[in-house]
Amino acid sequence: MIRIFSDEISNPKNFVVTLELVPGRESVGRSVDTLKGIARDAFGDGRISAVSITDNPGGNPSLSPDVLGSEIFKCGLDVIVHFTCRDMNRVGMESRALQLARMGMKNILALTGDYSGKGFGGQGKPVFDYDSVILTRLLKSLNKRLLTSGDPDLFFTGCAVSPFKTTEAETLAQYGKLDKKLGAGASFVITQLGYDVKKFRELISHLHQKRMNPPVMGSVYLLSPRSARAMNKGRVPGAHVADTLFDQVIKEWTHTRSGLKTAIDRAAKLGVILKGLGYRGIHIGGIHRSFKTVGAILDRMDEIEDSWEDFLTEFNMGMGNANTYYYFDKTPAPQKLPLPSRIKEKLTDHYPHFLLKTAHTLFFDKNARLAPVYRKLAEVLTKTNKTWLLKLILEDPMKKPLLSCQSCGDCAIQHLAFLCPESGCPKHTRNGACGGSRDGWCEVHTDKKCVWTRAYHRLKYCGLGHTLGQELVPPRMWELNKTSSWINFHLGKDHQG
Ligand code: SF4
Repeated sequence: MIRIFSDEISNPKNFVVTLELVPGRESVGRSVDTLKGIARDAFGDGRISAVSITDNPGGNPSLSPDVLGSEIFKCGLDVIVHFTCRDMNRVGMESRALQLARMGMKNILALTGDYSGKGFGGQGKPVFDYDSVILTRLLKSLNKRLLTSGDPDLFFTGCAVSPFKTTEAETLAQYGKLDKKLGAGASFVITQLGYDVKKFRELISHLHQKRMNPPVMGSVYLLSPRSARAMNKGRVPGAHVADTLFDQVIKEWTHTRSGLKTAIDRAAKLGVILKGLGYRGIHIGGIHRSFKTVGAILDRMDEIEDSWEDFLTEFNMGMGNANTYYYFDKTPAPQKLPLPSRIKEKLTDHYPHFLLKTAHTLFFDKNARLAPVYRKLAEVLTKTNKTWLLKLILEDPMKKPLLSCQSCGDCAIQHLAFLCPESGCPKHTRNGACGGSRDGWCEVHTDKKCVWTRAYHRLKYCGLGHTLGQELVPPRMWELNKTSSWINFHLGKDHQG
């Protein structure tokens, strides 16, 4: 019987199981045959609603999920295609979406994506023209076109969330972005991988508090020493394995057979806990060789399902950081930074924030008293082809030292506590943090704070922490590249116009 993932996950009575497949860098050969074999067995087993196929994981080239997915789809198993924003601009992304629609593969997991890895000749150019929120909106708008053209089979878009964050800023940034993704049209949620049950509960409580009830699937993984090490060292963005768990996994795998048995048991225990907590399904990862292990996890889940609460203590080891922030705990007493850090924070964050905010109120508010004068000036400079003059003598000298301005011409600093998403975030995220930050540090530049963490601290300092990333910010207007953003704003040419 052909199972339809969107129907199954949308029915609250179902507990859905999906399986993640990770293609390699081959178009034929053993790795492809193995994945197709796993998919074939999953279909035969009958307990898997769909396989999800990753899109150049880790930013490294691999067989396209569209191609592999279409072969699996034709065999009768439903497919979720991972769709990232890293490798294509908006034109390529829309074209890819149309191609997927044409192929009938409309379950999409919309992701910002890991940062670029290495291809032939070295590191790839990171595109990130959209973020996952805008991609979700694109798919929603394509649905309208599908309906108009008489196709009732629409894109069914899901999103990811990483609840496994240790700091207040990252936690709130993740949930804020999740709200936006759901608002933009995401119909289901898949968590990143982690082992802190309190964080799994926190996500569900957040959704209840917001009166949102999307189907949420929790990630479950067959943890081997290799994958546990990568996650523990932060090499898998968004996934989290604490030191204690990592040490435990290493000990368990002293003998491969017992290691595998314990890994299956751990995956099954987490699976039943998630079911007990109200998750609508599990998303199984870490299966690279055969479907047998998945069958063993699901069999074990059947055996232990009723006693899920007995296993909670095993997943209560926290995030390995005594200061981990939990949204629904009583607010912990704010930790006072040492004096040099406080001075640095004021100089690098709070004072520039105050300065730019004041300048914005005076010069870049359509309701400012002098707004008509600025507009007139902008018109005169445009008519006389002198906009470059303003940019050269005023705009660049102010914005370059303060913001490392990239002259995108469509300034978005006001949406990010006056930090720049172009120069400050390697993925140029305009609608919230990606899932890859770790203890507040950037996934890509690990010696720099995530720009969204900095923005949160700036806003919190002014009592506005709750406003972080609330607005839906359209993608950058590339037609304005290298022009004066000040003039563009006053003439209503930029994204605010
Ligand atoms: S600055 Fe933050 S949102 Fe941007 S890439 Fe780094 S971790 Fe991700």
